[in-house]
Amino acid sequence: MLPELSREEILRYSRHLLVPEVGLNGQRKLKGSSALIIGSGGLGSPVALYLAAAGVGHIGLVDYDVVEESNLQRQIVHGTGMVGRLKVDSARTRLLDLNPAIQVDAFNESFTSANAMRIAEPFDIIIDGTDNFPTRYLTNDLCVLTDKPNVYGAIHRFEGQASVFYAREGPCYRCLFPEPPPPGLVPSCAEAGVLGILPGTIGTIQATEAIKFLLGIGSSLSGRLLLYDALDMSFEYVKLKKNPECKVCGAHPEVTALIDYNEFCGVPGLEHEEGPEGREWDITARELSAQLKRGKPLRLIDVREPHELAISHIKGAENIPLGELAGALSKLDPSQEIVLFCKKGSRSRRGLELLASAGFKNVKNLRGGINAWAMEVDRSLPIY
Ligand SMILES: [Zn+2]
Repeated sequence: MLPELSREEILRYSRHLLVPEVGLNGQRKLKGSSALIIGSGGLGSPVALYLAAAGVGHIGLVDYDVVEESNLQRQIVHGTGMVGRLKVDSARTRLLDLNPAIQVDAFNESFTSANAMRIAEPFDIIIDGTDNFPTRYLTNDLCVLTDKPNVYGAIHRFEGQASVFYAREGPCYRCLFPEPPPPGLVPSCAEAGVLGILPGTIGTIQATEAIKFLLGIGSSLSGRLLLYDALDMSFEYVKLKKNPECKVCGAHPEVTALIDYNEFCGVPGLEHEEGPEGREWDITARELSAQLKRGKPLRLIDVREPHELAISHIKGAENIPLGELAGALSKLDPSQEIVLFCKKGSRSRRGLELLASAGFKNVKNLRGGINAWAMEVDRSLPIY
Protein backbone atom coordinates (compact mmCIF):
# COMPACT_ATOMS: atom_id res chain seq x y z
CA MET A 1 0.00 0.00 0.00
CA LEU A 2 1.46 3.35 -1.04
CA PRO A 3 1.18 6.28 1.38
CA GLU A 4 -1.23 9.09 0.50
CA LEU A 5 -0.02 12.62 -0.25
CA SER A 6 -1.24 15.55 1.83
CA ARG A 7 -2.53 18.78 0.22
CA GLU A 8 0.84 20.41 1.02
CA GLU A 9 2.71 17.55 -0.60
CA ILE A 10 0.58 17.73 -3.75
CA LEU A 11 1.50 21.40 -4.04
CA ARG A 12 5.18 20.82 -3.20
CA TYR A 13 5.59 18.07 -5.79
CA SER A 14 3.34 19.51 -8.48
CA ARG A 15 6.16 19.59 -11.06
CA HIS A 16 6.64 15.86 -10.51
CA LEU A 17 2.92 15.16 -10.68
CA LEU A 18 2.84 16.82 -14.11
CA VAL A 19 5.39 14.33 -15.48
CA PRO A 20 3.43 11.28 -16.67
CA GLU A 21 6.31 8.90 -15.82
CA VAL A 22 6.16 10.09 -12.21
CA GLY A 23 2.60 11.29 -11.58
CA LEU A 24 0.67 10.89 -8.37
CA ASN A 25 1.50 7.20 -7.99
CA GLY A 26 5.20 7.76 -8.62
CA GLN A 27 5.31 10.49 -6.01
CA ARG A 28 3.56 8.16 -3.55
CA LYS A 29 6.18 5.52 -4.38
CA LEU A 30 8.95 8.00 -3.55
CA LYS A 31 7.22 8.89 -0.29
CA GLY A 32 7.09 5.21 0.61
CA SER A 33 10.71 4.53 -0.32
CA SER A 34 13.99 4.79 1.51
CA ALA A 35 17.64 5.41 0.60
CA LEU A 36 20.85 5.11 2.59
CA ILE A 37 23.59 7.56 1.62
CA ILE A 38 27.03 6.54 2.81
CA GLY A 39 29.14 9.65 3.27
CA SER A 40 27.91 13.22 3.69
CA GLY A 41 30.74 14.75 1.66
CA GLY A 42 31.20 15.78 -1.96
CA LEU A 43 29.11 13.03 -3.55
CA GLY A 44 26.72 12.61 -0.62
CA SER A 45 25.81 16.31 -0.63
CA PRO A 46 23.98 16.54 -3.98
CA VAL A 47 22.57 13.02 -3.55
CA ALA A 48 21.05 13.92 -0.17
CA LEU A 49 19.76 17.32 -1.31
CA TYR A 50 18.07 15.98 -4.46
CA LEU A 51 16.58 12.89 -2.80
CA ALA A 52 15.18 15.05 0.00
CA ALA A 53 13.82 17.61 -2.47
CA ALA A 54 12.29 14.82 -4.57
CA GLY A 55 10.38 13.53 -1.55
CA VAL A 56 12.08 10.21 -0.83
CA GLY A 57 10.29 9.55 2.43
CA HIS A 58 13.11 8.07 4.49
CA ILE A 59 16.78 9.01 4.09
CA GLY A 60 19.69 7.61 6.09
CA LEU A 61 23.02 9.43 6.37
CA VAL A 62 26.25 7.75 7.50
CA ASP A 63 29.38 9.77 8.30
CA TYR A 64 31.69 10.10 11.29
CA ASP A 65 33.42 13.31 10.27
CA VAL A 66 33.09 16.94 11.27
CA VAL A 67 32.49 19.82 8.82
CA GLU A 68 35.73 21.65 8.00
CA GLU A 69 36.19 24.88 6.08
CA SER A 70 38.07 23.08 3.30
CA ASN A 71 34.98 20.88 2.72
CA LEU A 72 32.76 23.79 1.67
CA GLN A 73 34.33 24.14 -1.82
CA ARG A 74 32.35 21.02 -2.86
CA GLN A 75 30.27 19.61 0.01
CA ILE A 76 27.29 21.83 -0.68
CA VAL A 77 24.91 20.33 1.87
CA HIS A 78 26.97 22.06 4.59
CA GLY A 79 27.23 25.78 5.30
CA THR A 80 29.81 28.04 6.90
CA GLY A 81 27.77 28.18 10.10
CA MET A 82 28.11 24.40 10.45
CA VAL A 83 31.93 24.29 10.52
CA GLY A 84 32.94 22.20 13.53
CA ARG A 85 29.61 20.35 13.71
CA LEU A 86 29.07 16.68 12.88
CA LYS A 87 28.49 16.25 9.15
CA VAL A 88 25.43 14.06 9.68
CA ASP A 89 23.85 16.66 11.98
CA SER A 90 24.69 19.49 9.60
CA ALA A 91 23.27 17.57 6.62
CA ARG A 92 20.17 16.43 8.53
CA THR A 93 19.38 20.02 9.56
CA ARG A 94 19.71 21.20 5.95
CA LEU A 95 17.59 18.34 4.54
CA LEU A 96 14.78 18.89 7.04
CA ASP A 97 14.81 22.59 6.21
CA LEU A 98 14.53 21.68 2.54
CA ASN A 99 11.77 19.14 3.18
CA PRO A 100 10.27 18.88 6.68
CA ALA A 101 7.89 16.11 5.59
CA ILE A 102 10.59 13.43 5.28
CA GLN A 103 12.35 11.32 7.90
CA VAL A 104 16.14 11.68 8.07
CA ASP A 105 18.15 9.26 10.22
CA ALA A 106 21.72 10.26 11.09
CA PHE A 107 24.31 7.59 11.81
CA ASN A 108 27.36 9.25 13.27
CA GLU A 109 29.65 6.25 12.90
CA SER A 110 32.13 4.88 10.42
CA PHE A 111 30.59 2.25 8.18
CA THR A 112 32.16 -1.12 9.05
CA SER A 113 31.46 -4.83 8.83
CA ALA A 114 30.18 -4.63 12.41
CA ASN A 115 27.40 -2.10 11.80
CA ALA A 116 26.76 -2.12 8.02
CA MET A 117 24.02 -4.78 8.07
CA ARG A 118 22.19 -3.13 10.96
CA ILE A 119 22.35 0.35 9.43
CA ALA A 120 21.42 -0.73 5.89
CA GLU A 121 18.64 -3.16 6.81
CA PRO A 122 15.59 -0.85 6.51
CA PHE A 123 16.69 0.86 3.28
CA ASP A 124 15.61 0.04 -0.30
CA ILE A 125 18.72 1.37 -2.04
CA ILE A 126 22.29 2.16 -1.03
CA ILE A 127 24.24 5.08 -2.47
CA ASP A 128 28.00 4.97 -2.10
CA GLY A 129 29.19 8.52 -1.62
CA THR A 130 32.47 7.84 0.16
CA ASP A 131 35.01 7.32 -2.62
CA ASN A 132 37.37 5.11 -0.63
CA PHE A 133 38.22 1.49 -1.22
CA PRO A 134 37.37 -0.17 2.12
CA THR A 135 33.85 1.31 2.08
CA ARG A 136 33.44 0.66 -1.63
CA TYR A 137 34.10 -3.08 -1.19
CA LEU A 138 32.09 -3.21 2.02
CA THR A 139 29.12 -1.50 0.32
CA ASN A 140 29.36 -3.77 -2.70
CA ASP A 141 29.47 -6.97 -0.64
CA LEU A 142 26.68 -5.75 1.62
CA CYS A 143 24.45 -5.00 -1.38
CA VAL A 144 25.15 -8.39 -3.00
CA LEU A 145 24.53 -10.28 0.26
CA THR A 146 21.30 -8.38 1.02
CA ASP A 147 20.06 -8.09 -2.60
CA LYS A 148 19.99 -4.30 -2.66
CA PRO A 149 21.09 -2.02 -5.54
CA ASN A 150 24.33 -0.11 -5.02
CA VAL A 151 24.60 3.25 -6.75
CA TYR A 152 28.29 3.81 -7.30
CA GLY A 153 30.21 7.02 -7.96
CA ALA A 154 33.89 7.90 -7.92
CA ILE A 155 35.82 11.08 -8.62
CA HIS A 156 39.39 12.15 -9.25
CA ARG A 157 40.40 15.72 -10.12
CA PHE A 158 38.47 16.26 -13.40
CA GLU A 159 37.24 12.74 -14.00
CA GLY A 160 34.35 10.78 -12.59
CA GLN A 161 32.64 7.42 -12.90
CA ALA A 162 29.19 6.16 -12.06
CA SER A 163 27.30 2.91 -12.30
CA VAL A 164 24.61 0.85 -10.64
CA PHE A 165 25.71 -2.48 -9.25
CA TYR A 166 22.73 -4.76 -8.73
CA ALA A 167 23.86 -8.37 -8.65
CA ARG A 168 20.32 -9.65 -9.22
CA GLU A 169 20.36 -8.31 -12.78
CA GLY A 170 23.96 -7.38 -13.60
CA PRO A 171 27.57 -7.22 -12.48
CA CYS A 172 28.78 -6.09 -9.07
CA TYR A 173 31.84 -3.99 -8.34
CA ARG A 174 33.93 -7.11 -7.64
CA CYS A 175 33.05 -8.52 -11.08
CA LEU A 176 35.22 -5.64 -12.38
CA PHE A 177 37.78 -5.35 -9.61
CA PRO A 178 37.97 -8.58 -7.57
CA GLU A 179 40.30 -7.14 -4.91
CA PRO A 180 41.18 -3.66 -3.61
CA PRO A 181 44.45 -2.13 -4.85
CA PRO A 182 47.45 -2.32 -2.52
CA PRO A 183 47.52 0.33 0.22
CA GLY A 184 49.19 3.57 -0.72
CA LEU A 185 48.57 3.33 -4.44
CA VAL A 186 45.56 5.60 -4.47
CA PRO A 187 45.81 9.20 -3.32
CA SER A 188 42.96 10.63 -1.29
CA CYS A 189 40.99 13.69 -2.37
CA ALA A 190 42.83 15.78 0.19
CA GLU A 191 46.12 14.95 -1.50
CA ALA A 192 45.07 14.82 -5.12
CA GLY A 193 42.65 17.73 -5.10
CA VAL A 194 39.34 17.73 -6.89
CA LEU A 195 37.42 20.24 -8.97
CA GLY A 196 34.61 21.27 -6.61
CA ILE A 197 31.86 20.85 -9.19
CA LEU A 198 32.92 17.31 -10.14
CA PRO A 199 31.24 15.53 -7.19
CA GLY A 200 28.19 17.68 -7.96
CA THR A 201 27.98 16.22 -11.47
CA ILE A 202 28.65 12.63 -10.42
CA GLY A 203 26.51 12.83 -7.25
CA THR A 204 23.62 14.24 -9.27
CA ILE A 205 23.94 11.30 -11.68
CA GLN A 206 23.84 8.94 -8.68
CA ALA A 207 20.75 10.70 -7.34
CA THR A 208 19.11 10.40 -10.79
CA GLU A 209 19.81 6.67 -10.88
CA ALA A 210 18.40 6.27 -7.36
CA ILE A 211 15.18 8.13 -8.23
CA LYS A 212 14.75 6.11 -11.45
CA PHE A 213 15.21 2.87 -9.54
CA LEU A 214 12.74 3.86 -6.82
CA LEU A 215 10.19 4.88 -9.45
CA GLY A 216 10.92 1.84 -11.65
CA ILE A 217 11.39 3.94 -14.80
CA GLY A 218 13.97 4.22 -17.57
CA SER A 219 17.03 2.08 -18.12
CA SER A 220 19.67 2.23 -15.43
CA LEU A 221 23.46 2.26 -15.50
CA SER A 222 23.41 -1.39 -14.38
CA GLY A 223 25.80 -3.22 -16.72
CA ARG A 224 27.38 0.06 -17.87
CA LEU A 225 30.14 2.17 -16.42
CA LEU A 226 29.81 5.87 -17.16
CA LEU A 227 33.13 7.69 -17.59
CA TYR A 228 32.95 11.46 -17.39
CA ASP A 229 35.72 13.94 -18.17
CA ALA A 230 34.96 17.51 -17.13
CA LEU A 231 37.86 18.99 -19.12
CA ASP A 232 36.60 17.81 -22.51
CA MET A 233 33.02 17.48 -21.28
CA SER A 234 32.86 13.93 -22.55
CA PHE A 235 30.60 11.10 -21.42
CA GLU A 236 31.62 7.59 -22.41
CA TYR A 237 30.16 4.20 -21.52
CA VAL A 238 31.90 0.91 -21.00
CA LYS A 239 29.81 -2.26 -21.12
CA LEU A 240 30.20 -4.36 -18.01
CA LYS A 241 29.63 -8.08 -17.81
CA LYS A 242 28.83 -10.22 -14.83
CA ASN A 243 31.81 -12.40 -13.95
CA PRO A 244 30.57 -15.97 -13.37
CA GLU A 245 33.68 -16.52 -11.21
CA CYS A 246 33.02 -13.38 -9.12
CA LYS A 247 34.11 -13.83 -5.51
CA VAL A 248 30.88 -12.47 -4.11
CA CYS A 249 28.13 -12.67 -6.75
CA GLY A 250 29.44 -15.65 -8.76
CA ALA A 251 28.25 -19.24 -8.69
CA HIS A 252 30.75 -20.27 -6.00
CA PRO A 253 31.20 -17.21 -3.81
CA GLU A 254 34.20 -17.01 -1.48
CA VAL A 255 33.00 -13.83 0.19
CA THR A 256 29.97 -14.81 2.26
CA ALA A 257 30.35 -12.30 5.09
CA LEU A 258 31.42 -8.66 5.28
CA ILE A 259 35.15 -7.89 5.38
CA ASP A 260 36.92 -4.82 6.75
CA TYR A 261 39.90 -4.06 4.58
CA ASN A 262 42.84 -2.35 6.21
CA GLU A 263 42.85 1.36 6.01
CA PHE A 264 44.31 2.71 2.83
CA CYS A 265 45.87 6.01 2.10
CA GLY A 266 42.73 6.81 0.12
CA VAL A 267 40.63 6.85 3.27
CA PRO A 268 39.40 10.26 4.27
CA GLY A 269 40.17 10.74 7.93
CA LEU A 270 43.47 8.91 7.84
CA GLU A 271 45.28 12.14 7.21
CA HIS A 272 44.21 13.73 10.45
CA GLU A 273 44.51 10.52 12.37
CA GLU A 274 47.48 10.21 14.67
CA GLY A 275 47.57 6.46 14.99
CA PRO A 276 50.05 4.73 17.28
CA GLU A 277 51.76 3.18 14.27
CA GLY A 278 54.97 4.98 13.34
CA ARG A 279 54.70 7.47 16.15
CA GLU A 280 58.32 7.06 17.19
CA TRP A 281 59.20 8.32 13.70
CA ASP A 282 57.26 11.52 14.23
CA ILE A 283 58.64 14.93 15.03
CA THR A 284 56.35 17.78 16.02
CA ALA A 285 56.51 21.19 14.39
CA ARG A 286 57.79 22.73 17.66
CA GLU A 287 60.53 20.13 18.06
CA LEU A 288 61.63 20.63 14.46
CA SER A 289 61.64 24.40 14.86
CA ALA A 290 63.77 24.13 18.02
CA GLN A 291 66.23 21.80 16.29
CA LEU A 292 66.57 24.12 13.31
CA LYS A 293 67.11 27.10 15.62
CA ARG A 294 69.89 25.21 17.42
CA GLY A 295 71.49 24.71 14.01
CA LYS A 296 71.16 20.94 14.05
CA PRO A 297 72.30 19.63 10.66
CA LEU A 298 69.35 17.97 9.03
CA ARG A 299 67.97 17.66 5.55
CA LEU A 300 64.42 18.97 5.30
CA ILE A 301 62.54 17.44 2.37
CA ASP A 302 59.15 18.64 1.19
CA VAL A 303 57.44 15.73 -0.62
CA ARG A 304 54.48 17.76 -1.87
CA GLU A 305 53.81 18.53 -5.54
CA PRO A 306 55.61 21.62 -6.92
CA HIS A 307 52.39 23.63 -7.34
CA GLU A 308 51.70 23.32 -3.61
CA LEU A 309 54.86 25.30 -2.85
CA ALA A 310 53.10 28.42 -4.10
CA ILE A 311 50.57 28.01 -1.26
CA SER A 312 53.09 27.65 1.54
CA HIS A 313 56.67 26.56 2.05
CA ILE A 314 59.23 26.17 4.81
CA LYS A 315 62.51 28.05 4.30
CA GLY A 316 65.45 25.76 3.67
CA ALA A 317 63.35 22.80 2.56
CA GLU A 318 64.09 21.10 -0.72
CA ASN A 319 61.26 19.76 -2.85
CA ILE A 320 61.24 16.10 -3.93
CA PRO A 321 57.63 15.10 -4.74
CA LEU A 322 56.69 11.73 -3.26
CA GLY A 323 56.46 10.15 -6.71
CA GLU A 324 60.09 11.08 -7.41
CA LEU A 325 61.49 10.06 -4.04
CA ALA A 326 62.28 6.47 -5.03
CA GLY A 327 64.31 7.74 -7.99
CA ALA A 328 66.19 10.22 -5.80
CA LEU A 329 67.45 7.76 -3.17
CA SER A 330 70.99 7.80 -4.57
CA LYS A 331 71.14 11.56 -3.92
CA LEU A 332 70.35 11.09 -0.23
CA ASP A 333 72.87 10.21 2.46
CA PRO A 334 71.57 7.43 4.76
CA SER A 335 73.80 8.65 7.61
CA GLN A 336 72.34 12.16 7.58
CA GLU A 337 69.21 13.01 9.56
CA ILE A 338 66.28 13.59 7.19
CA VAL A 339 62.94 15.17 8.04
CA LEU A 340 60.13 14.65 5.54
CA PHE A 341 56.98 16.69 5.41
CA CYS A 342 53.90 17.17 3.22
CA LYS A 343 50.58 18.95 3.72
CA LYS A 344 49.22 16.97 6.67
CA GLY A 345 51.65 14.11 7.21
CA SER A 346 50.33 11.09 5.32
CA ARG A 347 52.30 11.39 2.08
CA SER A 348 55.47 12.04 4.08
CA ARG A 349 54.69 8.96 6.16
CA ARG A 350 54.65 6.94 2.97
CA GLY A 351 57.92 8.58 1.99
CA LEU A 352 59.32 7.63 5.35
CA GLU A 353 58.26 4.02 4.86
CA LEU A 354 59.99 4.08 1.48
CA LEU A 355 63.24 5.42 2.96
CA ALA A 356 63.05 3.05 5.93
CA SER A 357 62.63 0.06 3.61
CA ALA A 358 65.70 1.28 1.67
CA GLY A 359 67.74 1.10 4.88
CA PHE A 360 67.57 4.73 6.03
CA LYS A 361 67.50 4.77 9.83
CA ASN A 362 67.65 8.44 10.63
CA VAL A 363 64.41 9.70 9.11
CA LYS A 364 61.62 11.65 10.76
CA ASN A 365 58.13 12.64 9.66
CA LEU A 366 56.80 16.10 10.51
CA ARG A 367 53.56 15.24 12.28
CA GLY A 368 50.61 17.15 10.84
CA GLY A 369 52.76 18.40 7.94
CA ILE A 370 53.21 22.00 6.91
CA ASN A 371 49.72 22.76 8.18
CA ALA A 372 50.86 21.90 11.73
CA TRP A 373 53.93 24.08 11.13
CA ALA A 374 51.59 26.91 10.10
CA MET A 375 49.53 26.46 13.27
CA GLU A 376 52.34 26.01 15.77
CA VAL A 377 55.45 27.71 14.42
CA ASP A 378 54.90 30.16 11.56
CA ARG A 379 51.46 31.69 11.84
CA SER A 380 52.04 33.83 8.77
CA LEU A 381 51.63 30.71 6.62
CA PRO A 382 48.16 29.79 5.36
CA ILE A 383 46.55 26.45 6.22
CA TYR A 384 45.05 24.58 3.27
ZN1 LIG B 1 30.21 -9.81 -8.87
